[in-house]
Amino acid sequence: MSSTYETFIEMVRQIGRLESVESLLDWDQETKMPPNGLNARAEQLSTLARLVHEHRTSPELGEALQDLNGQSDDPVRATNIRETRRLYDRAVKVPADLVAKIASVSAHAKSAWAVARKDSNFAAFAPHLDELLKLKCEVADLVGHNGDRYDALLSEFEPGAKAEEIANVFAELRGPLSEFVSQIAAASTRPDPAIITRHFPWAAQEQFARTLATAIGFDFQSGRLDASVHPFCSGTTPNDVRLTTRYIENFFNCAIFGTLHEAGHGVYEQGFDEKHMFTPMGSAISLGIHESQSRMWENLVGRSRGFWKHFYPLCQTQFPDSLSDVSMDAFYGAINAVQPSFIRVEADEVTYNLHIILRFELEREMIAGRLAVNDVPEAWNTKTKELLGLTPSNDAEGCLQDIHWSMGTFGYFPTYALGNLYAAQFFATARNAIPDLDDRIARGDFKTLLDWLRENIYRHGQRYTATELVEVVTGSPLSVTPFIQYVRAKFSPVYGLE
Ligand code: ZN
Repeated sequence: MSSTYETFIEMVRQIGRLESVESLLDWDQETKMPPNGLNARAEQLSTLARLVHEHRTSPELGEALQDLNGQSDDPVRATNIRETRRLYDRAVKVPADLVAKIASVSAHAKSAWAVARKDSNFAAFAPHLDELLKLKCEVADLVGHNGDRYDALLSEFEPGAKAEEIANVFAELRGPLSEFVSQIAAASTRPDPAIITRHFPWAAQEQFARTLATAIGFDFQSGRLDASVHPFCSGTTPNDVRLTTRYIENFFNCAIFGTLHEAGHGVYEQGFDEKHMFTPMGSAISLGIHESQSRMWENLVGRSRGFWKHFYPLCQTQFPDSLSDVSMDAFYGAINAVQPSFIRVEADEVTYNLHIILRFELEREMIAGRLAVNDVPEAWNTKTKELLGLTPSNDAEGCLQDIHWSMGTFGYFPTYALGNLYAAQFFATARNAIPDLDDRIARGDFKTLLDWLRENIYRHGQRYTATELVEVVTGSPLSVTPFIQYVRAKFSPVYGLE
């Protein structure tokens, strides 16, 4: 038994190592690679994707899984067997040629998207999107589903989740959120968000962003921070976690909260047990759970009054020209201003989920074959009007703003909204467990919360599914209530609402 498991886990680690090389090449493509490196990079990524796929579907791994028979009393072994089995069962249904082709097509599509977005030229990206959409639909049909093709794609990012269930959660969320957005729009007390569009020099932003990331527990001996068009966190091992951010000199929020967001992903990645490196026990459960950590550190902690009670004096010295005449209250209001806007990554906490509902609804139509790629810009604009009351003036601030579709990651967006909901539910539980949590944050003590998260979430790797983890940690299944309560409690005072 033991030797079968040892042989098995070494095969699993090999896959994990190859995948970490893939993510390192992806990181490099987004941050450092010269433009002419693209063709070779597409070949490298395609070869690696094929190699990973061959390992994931190897007869030896299949036999080992058969021999182990899904059985183990040890939770670590049981987790590694269960998750490897899940991925094996999925991967064997998809031919290696198709996997390699998607990797190559998406490397080119990502590059075409970056140019199309810069020029706001959807037509230049449309053929890439169309090709990727067809390829991913092919994958979904091969993987199999119960009539809803979206489920097969969603399960790649949020194992076990169903589109219909997510649609129901979003239906519960939409009413209360829209109502609250309307109340805010009609409020007579309003913060002045213009403060955060003053001048904030790049170098000072970078220095301050690093200070904040370090303060919440991101270890720069085991990680990096670089600039990229689309911010992300790429965790290769707990000791090598790459964050990226985007600097806009006349917009404070982008790099500062963007870095806190990615550092939130980063502390989760750094919180995995090193001895489980390259195995499911040392990996994230789902993108929704991953996002719960980034959103918690970015928003529930990073946009809280206590956080800025601690950091605002330093922030003022960092940006004296723009902030020395701004009170803490005015600053707190400005970073928490609620304003329907075009760009998801810059959206406030209240309207953010509406951006996700928009993408989820469009993706479902595209995947079901009811929305053609050429009609996406118009459908995007119609939904933006319906959900946010705005009409994008070009596709760069509309359907070209996100990188995800260029990577072929359809079914990814809902994990962002799930992350917001999980974050609120976890944070409510942390507050009960640590009664003086808000005071601790205001004193600059983030370690108490980080330790709680490490103990209750990070160290478990994939031991629980997302659904199980929420129940284990909070004692209840996923609910929209903690999120609705959180936004109402936080934003009502900002807008003088009761
Ligand atoms: Zn994120």
